[in-house]
Amino acid sequence: MRVLLLSDIHSNLEALYAVLGAAPPHDLVWNLGDVVGYGADPNEVIDRVRGLGPIFVRGNHDKACSGVEGLERFNPIAARAAQWTHDSLTSGNLEWLRQLPAGPVMPEGSDVTCSHGSPLDEDEYLITVRDAWLPLSQSPARINFFGHTHVQGGFATNGEEWFQLKPQFSASGADDYELPLRENARYLINPGSVGQPRDGDWRAAFAVYEIEDGMRRIMFYRVPYDVKQAQGKILAAGLPDRLATRLSEGR
Ligand code: ZN
Repeated sequence: MRVLLLSDIHSNLEALYAVLGAAPPHDLVWNLGDVVGYGADPNEVIDRVRGLGPIFVRGNHDKACSGVEGLERFNPIAARAAQWTHDSLTSGNLEWLRQLPAGPVMPEGSDVTCSHGSPLDEDEYLITVRDAWLPLSQSPARINFFGHTHVQGGFATNGEEWFQLKPQFSASGADDYELPLRENARYLINPGSVGQPRDGDWRAAFAVYEIEDGMRRIMFYRVPYDVKQAQGKILAAGLPDRLATRLSEGR
C-alpha cells in the first residue's frame, strides 16, 4: 500500500499541480492540514484536493480562514491573508473547510495518526527534538504524521536515543530520499510543505508512506514548480509582498 502525504498546501495551485504530477502511483491520499491561507488560489486548490481524500485534518489556517477560530493568534501578514481568503472563498468551500476534523485522526485500517501540529495538540509546533519528546512518548501510535512547521523530516526514538530526521538530497540533483522505518522505533514524520516550504529549499515538498511485505518506509520528495507564476498571482491579488518573496527563498 502506498499513501501520498500532503501538508501545508496554502492555496498554492502551481505547487500542488507539480506535486500531483510528480507523485508516484499511490492508493490513498492523507492531507495534514492548511489547505488554504497565504496563497492566491484558495478555491482552485480546494476544488482540486476535495476529491483526493479520504483523510483530511484541519490546520490553524483552515480554522482561521473559515471562521472556526479568530485571528488573534496570527501575525498581521497571516491575518491579512486569512481575511482575504475568507472573503474570496465560495460558500461551499467555506463549509467544506469548517467540517474538517481536528487531529489526530487514525485512518481506518491503519495503526498510525495524522495531525496538523502534534498528535497531542493540533496547534503545537514540533520544531526541536525537545518539542517531539512528549508526543513521541505519549502518542497512542508508533508512527505519526504531522505538518504545521513547513520543515520536511521529523523525529524518531528507540526509547533510549532521540533523533531529528532530515532528508539529505544529493548534490547530483536527486530529489528523493528513502527512510526505512524500524520495527522497534517510534516516529513523527513531516512530509514538508507543498505550498510554502520554510526549510531553505524552495521546491514543493511531499512524501509517500509505503507498506510492502510488512516493511514500512517513507520516501521524501522535492519538486520544482512555477514559483514566478504563484508569486505573480499573490501580488496581483493585493496580498502582502512578503508572501510572494518568501516562496523563492524557501523561508
Ligand atoms: Zn501551515
